[in-house]
Amino acid sequence: MSNSIKFVVLVIEDEENIASFICKTLKLNGYKTITASAGREALSIIHSQCPDLILLDLGLPDMDGMEIIRQVREWSSTPIIVVSARIQEQEKVDALDAGADDYITKPFGTSELLARIRTSLRHSNRLNNHSNLYLRPYHSGKLTIDFEKRIVSLAGQQIHLTPVEFRIVAYLAQNSGKVVTYTSIMTQIWGPYSDKNNNKILRVNMANIRRKIEENPAEPEYLFTEVGIGYRMREDECKWGQGKC
Ligand code: CA
Repeated sequence: MSNSIKFVVLVIEDEENIASFICKTLKLNGYKTITASAGREALSIIHSQCPDLILLDLGLPDMDGMEIIRQVREWSSTPIIVVSARIQEQEKVDALDAGADDYITKPFGTSELLARIRTSLRHSNRLNNHSNLYLRPYHSGKLTIDFEKRIVSLAGQQIHLTPVEFRIVAYLAQNSGKVVTYTSIMTQIWGPYSDKNNNKILRVNMANIRRKIEENPAEPEYLFTEVGIGYRMREDECKWGQGKC
């Protein structure tokens, strides 16, 4: 860790004590940090210094954080984690649908923050390496998904899913560790013209999937509900570059 190149995290936050708490935590954990307390300053830093990850407060003095997400996504896939005191689910959903990778709600714990950062960096590394995520199986706990052979197994036993159930699980697994919104899943599975306001078909399929892959569907180990937002699948345990998968 000590002699590896440090990841650079841009912390966009106008509340000084929160920014300094986040920076201190990140530095202690081997990251380099840059801070910006306003939107325009942040955009100029993103262009000039290309950080590896962006932590973004949505409520900034000079512009709405949503606008930063939209502008950055026009040209960059740098992971963006929204840090927000706002509790409205709709804002989180809008931020995710505009291209944010994840969100964390204030107040949050250090370990939660670090876990979200690691997950987002891992995903962006896979994308940057042009590794074919879709051909390598997903492994987590007792669950394995072979995308190529379209086989899902739990503790070595093959699970029978319908084609739609498989597509949902595969999509969530390819985004494991990250929250995936209802809209994003509906669009991916049923197409851009699916009725996004009616996610009953998705909930029915999810209930069936959980019955098949969770030992106790009421206390899921693999497929978590993010109330009002979507689903998050347990992080894939394979690490790229370690030759284990
Ligand atoms: Ca703020």
